[in-house]
Amino acid sequence: MDCGLYQGNDDEFDTFNEEFLFDPKELDCVILSHAHIDHSGRLPKLVKEGFKGRVYSTHATRDLAAIMLVDSAHIQERDAYYQNKKKKGGPKVKPLYNVTDVQNTMDQFLCIGYNRWLKIDEECDIMFRDAGHILGSANVTLRIKKDNYHDIYFGFTGDIGRPDRPILRDPRSMPECDYIICESTYGGKLHNSTPQDENNLLEVIQQTCVEKKGKLIIPAFSVGRTQEIVYMLDRLANQKKLPKIPVYVDSPLAINATEIFQAHPECFDKEILDYMHTDPNPFGFNNLHYVRSVDGSKRLNTSEEPCIIISASGMMNAGRVKHHIFHAIENPRHTLLVVGYCSPATLGGILRNSPETVKIFGELKEVKMQISIMDSFSAHGDQQEMIDFLENQDRKKLKKLFLVHGDIKRQKTFKEVLEKRDFREVVIPELGESFKI
Ligand SMILES: [Zn+2]
Repeated sequence: MDCGLYQGNDDEFDTFNEEFLFDPKELDCVILSHAHIDHSGRLPKLVKEGFKGRVYSTHATRDLAAIMLVDSAHIQERDAYYQNKKKKGGPKVKPLYNVTDVQNTMDQFLCIGYNRWLKIDEECDIMFRDAGHILGSANVTLRIKKDNYHDIYFGFTGDIGRPDRPILRDPRSMPECDYIICESTYGGKLHNSTPQDENNLLEVIQQTCVEKKGKLIIPAFSVGRTQEIVYMLDRLANQKKLPKIPVYVDSPLAINATEIFQAHPECFDKEILDYMHTDPNPFGFNNLHYVRSVDGSKRLNTSEEPCIIISASGMMNAGRVKHHIFHAIENPRHTLLVVGYCSPATLGGILRNSPETVKIFGELKEVKMQISIMDSFSAHGDQQEMIDFLENQDRKKLKKLFLVHGDIKRQKTFKEVLEKRDFREVVIPELGESFKI
């Protein structure tokens, strides 16, 4: 289930990406819940090290993974190049994989739609259901033959999304399972506003771009968050509420991802499908410009016109958005709108706390631009939404619930809450720990 790349800065996981805790040649298959790099990012390394089986995913996940893994390979090749340039002697830094490894990986994909069982083995069927997290995201159920009369149901939540989010259908719970591996990102946490928050966004645009004639910089993940914001702006433009200012999507990956969104209306919810009756392109309006070239991006750095810039990376630790922030941060006319989680060590994580100064590209900068936060865009269900997702489970049938994908504090809180709700055995596994079921 999934094969992610660790992307944080913790020293504890410094070498985590380098080595698998098992032999890739011995795996029968991989089941991929969604395309986010922390779930898919080491697939090419798995293939490079001898994995020959199939990778099962939904169609949209496969298409997103294709562009995201190529992007990941490019980033790694570039990082290795710069690290080697800095390095004096010693062994060379090597990327985990390259674009050829990604191409080989894509040959091993086999795609299936939602809500149907597919036989993947004499004794095992698989089914994907909507996760409501990103395009193509799914939770996974395995139906494993125990004997002639009994099956074992094994569930994997992947990342649990949220109901009422733009574009995607709501999460759909898994069938009643015997065992579940469950994420726990927002254990102990409740999101403070509803997923669709157009008025807040409009207010920030009005204050920054109209009243102060400044730039509104929105760091956003290229896949998912960018399309949600563009769709929201598209709706505001159609309602004639959006001020007449240019909007730039400055990220080549986001542009490619938007094309993939357009190719997968089978993942859309009713609301956006209805919307497309009157506006066939929910990701494009008159003042919206997609910026591919580096020169185009650089022009935005120094331009003085009031505008909205949506750019990656979401955590601001790399990518074009870092340059936009570098140029705008000492000017109180501009606003940085943080729309997603940023791990504490990243530039985004630091700026979320509105510090007085910050170091960017080695230069100490005063933080004078306004910093606003809108957490309502989160693609991860909060604690209550995760509980709602698990509520249909038969507490007597469910023998073990394993908590993964969350820091240990959140996992412990979530475990306590689940136990109060009669989930019998909630287990927080150690890295590399094995269980017999
Ligand atoms: Zn995810």
